[in-house]
Amino acid sequence: MRALLPSLGLAALFAASFANAADLVVYSARNEQLVKPIFERYEQETGLKIQYLTDREAPLMARLQAEGRRTQADLFITVDAGNLWQAGELGLLRPVQSELLSDAIPAHLRDPQNRWFGLSVRARTLIYNTERLDPASLSTYEALAEPEWKGRLCLRTSKKVYNQSLVASLIEAHGSAEAERIVRGWVDNLAVAPFANDDDTILAVAAGRCDVAIVNTYYLGRLKRDRPELPVTVFWPNQSEGERGVHVNVSGAGITTHAKRPEAAQAFLEWLASVPVQEKFAGENLEFPAREGVALDPLVEGWGPFRPDLINVSRAGALQAEATMLMDRVGYR
Ligand code: FE
Repeated sequence: MRALLPSLGLAALFAASFANAADLVVYSARNEQLVKPIFERYEQETGLKIQYLTDREAPLMARLQAEGRRTQADLFITVDAGNLWQAGELGLLRPVQSELLSDAIPAHLRDPQNRWFGLSVRARTLIYNTERLDPASLSTYEALAEPEWKGRLCLRTSKKVYNQSLVASLIEAHGSAEAERIVRGWVDNLAVAPFANDDDTILAVAAGRCDVAIVNTYYLGRLKRDRPELPVTVFWPNQSEGERGVHVNVSGAGITTHAKRPEAAQAFLEWLASVPVQEKFAGENLEFPAREGVALDPLVEGWGPFRPDLINVSRAGALQAEATMLMDRVGYR
């Protein structure tokens, strides 16, 4: 396995002779520390060689576009259905017919056109300060717009794709006008200005600057792994009969339109969806496996079961622009 340096020139980087040495070339917007152990395991099991390039999703997608049919990338890995959807819309990914993948990955966690597949699930849920709040006072995302939460809510910035996907799910569930009323209510209830990241949002709840917040659970998991004394835990909202469930998103992957080794890419994708690898892929970052019936990390298991929103995650992409404009209108920074 060889990690490629993003700073190298495009032509030099993927000179044909170089890529020829690889059995699979991956562009990954997921951190090297998360994907490297998985690539190494695959290489050990199969004897194949993977070359990869990690960068943020926008430059990787721009690169795939610029390289076009000359690209050496076979597989694109990223977080958030909004990003996967965009890669699909840009024509960067090809449909894959695989019974193995369709059986392994639930329908709401993959592209209806089979151009990408969710591989891990991230739940964007409520967290609360266990010393200041009785969880019986919590119920739904929507209820956080009510006046009783004035000055008690913390949120991450609306610039993050995670919140754009969350608001997209509100638009899908309630329509634009009602979604706008809810998000305006959230903004009215903020205890402090939105935070740059989920970690700071969680630490604000732990410090008692706010009672409740909306974050991805793996950030809480990582913080609690190091600091189990933090008085913060998870609440699963929208669980009552007839309610839509917890907002979930995915990290996932798709085979590039111009893949030179599409069979190898499909075999790797199917391997990623297998039970033992699902356990590792999700566990590495304290996420949830996309595949059902796979063991959870004990820390994650400790938060108890929840019912997810079954709306297809690709809707987050389709409604992303509308969600961004909505958040702008209500002054959600
Ligand atoms: Fe994240």
